[in-house]
Amino acid sequence: MTSEGLPDLRREPHPNPTPTAERERLVAAPSFGTLFTDHMFTMSYTEGQGWHDASIQPYGPITMSPAAAVLHYAQEIFEGLKAYRYPDGGIGLFRPEANARRLNLSAERMAMPKLPEPWFIESIRELLAVDGGWVPGEDETSLYLRPFMFASEQFLGVRPAKEYRYLVIASPAGAYFKHGPKPLTLWVSDEYNRAGPGGTGAAKCGGNYAASLLPQSEAMENGCDQVVFLDAVNYEYVDELGGMNLFFAYENDQVLYTPKLGTILPGITRDAIFTLATEAGWEVRETDYSMTRWREDAESGALTEAFACGTAAVITPVGTVKGRSGEFQVNGGEAGKFTMQLRQTILDIQHGRAEDTHNWTMRI
Ligand code: PMP
Repeated sequence: MTSEGLPDLRREPHPNPTPTAERERLVAAPSFGTLFTDHMFTMSYTEGQGWHDASIQPYGPITMSPAAAVLHYAQEIFEGLKAYRYPDGGIGLFRPEANARRLNLSAERMAMPKLPEPWFIESIRELLAVDGGWVPGEDETSLYLRPFMFASEQFLGVRPAKEYRYLVIASPAGAYFKHGPKPLTLWVSDEYNRAGPGGTGAAKCGGNYAASLLPQSEAMENGCDQVVFLDAVNYEYVDELGGMNLFFAYENDQVLYTPKLGTILPGITRDAIFTLATEAGWEVRETDYSMTRWREDAESGALTEAFACGTAAVITPVGTVKGRSGEFQVNGGEAGKFTMQLRQTILDIQHGRAEDTHNWTMRI
């Protein structure tokens, strides 16, 4: 298998693409994850043959066997990244090779085939070549890209499948918070868990998100935005949120703490924050960070700010933390200065408004 050029690539133009005026109207006020572009990328894998039949096709339903392994044993992984409209009208991505690498780490854990990393980038390039007009241009908007892979083999035995499909779909995304980020209210789940040692917590697989839905609903019933998952052994150390990583800022010490890797998703935003915070003169420590410490230090004021991060929410302050045993606030429930500065710094890089000194952006 060569990693140069997608195998058997076909490009099928949409017979009836969304007219430009209609597309511009839709893209001007997108709601997340409901509207999709005209096309999708798809490619198949067969054991012994490798990846084949790459194509750009009109976006639409796909057929598969009711016995497809993914529908029974959830052998599925995905990625999430954004295409941004730069001030000069061009389009750029933020660290797509990190998503390519993470997809392969997920594939390894889920006993799925790897995708040559250049093909991951090519699949996105090919989709943007036909659907680039769907990348919105308003402040803080983007085109959300969703590459994913699943077991398509028709077989009910419990073993790794021998056939897979890889697709990329795209959905215009508006600003996550219309009037700047509102501090999050979090719900600490002391009953449900997302991942344990040796489990699949570090993989971006659908099953992790299925497990998070009930505690996430509980969070929402309690008036919270997101659920905080604790470690599965002691229910004491903070892991991460349903869809974001967490950071804790101690301004007097200029130290930023974040839960260490293992059972959490290795976030690409999390990784970028290590570099940006270090450049801003902070020390970043990956460590076990306990709920007791979070509460005590928030109450004493030693903990000056906390924030969540991820592709969707970028960097968002944490204001209030609730749980069955009560609630507390961080920084009086307000957005902190350091958090908002970091947010602006990363947004400016992602949207092509700042010089890219880290080689993080990729023009398409
Ligand atoms: N944790 C989880 C569980 C997530 O779903 C995400 C979003 N991908 C993140 C963290 C943040 O990762 P990233 O910064 O790569 O978007």
